[in-house]
Amino acid sequence: MEEVKVIARSLMEFLDKSPVNFLAVKTVASQLDDAGFVRLDPRESWELRPGGKYYITKNSSAIFAFVISTEGPASGFRIISAHSDSPCLRVKPKAEMISDGGIVKLNVEVYGGPILYTWFDRPLSLAGRVVLRSDDPLNPRTEIVRFDRPLLTIPHLAIHFNRAVNEGNPLSKQKDMLPVIAIVRDAAEKDNMLLRCVAEAVGCKMEDILDFDLSLFDTTPACLVGLDEEFLTSGRLDDLSMVHGAMTALLETSSTKQTRVMAIFDNEETGSGTKQGAASPVLMQLLRRVVACLGGSDEDYLRSIDKSFMISADNAHAYHPNYPEKYDPTNHPVVGGGPVIKINANCKYMTDAESAAVFKSICEKAGVPCQYFVNHSDVAGGSTLGNILTSQIDLRGVDMGEAIWAMHSVRETMATRDHAYTIRAFKTFFDL
Ligand code: ZN
Repeated sequence: MEEVKVIARSLMEFLDKSPVNFLAVKTVASQLDDAGFVRLDPRESWELRPGGKYYITKNSSAIFAFVISTEGPASGFRIISAHSDSPCLRVKPKAEMISDGGIVKLNVEVYGGPILYTWFDRPLSLAGRVVLRSDDPLNPRTEIVRFDRPLLTIPHLAIHFNRAVNEGNPLSKQKDMLPVIAIVRDAAEKDNMLLRCVAEAVGCKMEDILDFDLSLFDTTPACLVGLDEEFLTSGRLDDLSMVHGAMTALLETSSTKQTRVMAIFDNEETGSGTKQGAASPVLMQLLRRVVACLGGSDEDYLRSIDKSFMISADNAHAYHPNYPEKYDPTNHPVVGGGPVIKINANCKYMTDAESAAVFKSICEKAGVPCQYFVNHSDVAGGSTLGNILTSQIDLRGVDMGEAIWAMHSVRETMATRDHAYTIRAFKTFFDL
């Protein structure tokens, strides 16, 4: 039990440090730095050595770390992929809007597919990236920013104005979801209010802020719940629990038979179609470059890919005790039942019988249970990283995740012990 709690604490700390994609990548990078990984600049030429530990970031919101094999450039890759982003509300440019009483609210848009009404009446704050003027217009400076104290809330309409609220309440993304941030005496005070706050937080002049990517997050920290702390509840379990699992496994294993890779993409929640997303060539080009830097040929790269295996790690829907009718009658993973293999007849997932068998054997060797997720045949399921990546690299691999409740709620729930199971499986995979 102790191992389970220690791992849960480590996950909760990671989640609290990572309120948005940019902060998640910053948190991962600082842990890699502490573990002696060398940060590479994609614009420089690389000198890689067998056994060396390296990482790159892309757009400050995706991160790729790898430990080089000592068995030559054609030895293959063992990859665990996950994503840094979660559904949220994103601040629009010129966001401040004033209403009666000097109430300032912010104009926001929806990122990905959040369960909108879970965002009401919570202590929210802001985090993300600020882009600052530099001497070179083509290369502005980027600062990562996070406000620690609650700055905003989205007050729900009182039930007295909508007695039918509990019978289903359609929401307008533009009207209902705008958070309040301040009360001002003079309407002019609202002008540039957000930029002033950001400049103060970053320690720069307001005029130097050229643009920003700021998102809202719930400031409530992750915590354990349940009579025996069986459950872990937090924002962004999808997919930061898998990011944490992949990172922990990479840091706590030492095999150099194949190059071990952790690939954390951004923008999975909007379809992966950005330069830092899984549909881009970013991972393929990185792997080619690694082979080339080790003196390998194009053929060595292709041989390497053929020997490789990827675990595409993105969380799965756990069987919800209140809604048994939503799930497949014979394949519904439960919280606490171990890692979940996701499989779909129409190939929405990269899993097939052969790759599922590989993952099952890994779990067996790790001594952890594993289970299957298959959609109820009348319910259309989601997709994830694996099958998108295979359009760039013809990798073997499995789609899997941890079983969670309330996927895309501002706060999701999983079983505390599942994370220890997953990490044991990931470490076994890297160390095989
Ligand atoms: Zn996900």
